Amino acid sequence: MNPLDSLNQEIIQCHKCPRLVEWREEVARVKRKAYKDHEYWGKPVPGFGDPQARVLVVGLAPGAHGSNRTGRQFTGDASGGFLFPALHRAGFASQAEAESRSDRLVLKDMYITASGRCAPPDNKPSPAELNNCQPYLERELQIIQPKVIVCLGKIAFDRILKIFAVRNLKFSHGVVYTLHPSSFTHSVHPSFLLASYHPSQQNTLTGKLTVDMFDQIWRKAKSLLYDETLA
Ligand code: SF4
Repeated sequence: MNPLDSLNQEIIQCHKCPRLVEWREEVARVKRKAYKDHEYWGKPVPGFGDPQARVLVVGLAPGAHGSNRTGRQFTGDASGGFLFPALHRAGFASQAEAESRSDRLVLKDMYITASGRCAPPDNKPSPAELNNCQPYLERELQIIQPKVIVCLGKIAFDRILKIFAVRNLKFSHGVVYTLHPSSFTHSVHPSFLLASYHPSQQNTLTGKLTVDMFDQIWRKAKSLLYDETLA
């Protein structure tokens, strides 16, 4: 088993946060009416994508009826319905549709993960719950050693700053920073940190994040892969 598969097996078994364990399982038991015939995942949602990825995408946490139902990051809800078409246009995803773990979607040069792995009530994990989950993200960073880290939303952005022991960087959509290797990540090279608004409905339906703004993020991520200033 490769290191990511074995990490993911460990993540799926995790019960560190009692409130989230109870919530993820209750949502899976009660279900939303529209999905009453679905078998919900109801467990921590592992990362997925290309193990050789140079781009790591960090989201917030599973949606109750999205990835807590399907078992794959951003799959089966409105955020994923905005994200995957953009990744497909940019060449990072083999298809725009993401409905289930068996939909044949393949990510190229990209791995998608989250700050928290269990669906939280009101989409709000507590700081203590995010701290519990942080070691999993650290280990993904150690294994993948990404050149570009795209943070979807301020919570993911702050979590990455915490891991890299960096302070006083301001979250702003489209901003790029350079992160130097930290003792947490064991990284052998610096990484670019690229910040984006999260593709939540709250942002996409209000026009805070438009299709064009999001496409520019992925174009920028791609251009950073060929940027030599990190050498
Ligand atoms: S949020 Fe993370 S640390 Fe907490 S139970 Fe889920 S997987 Fe474990």
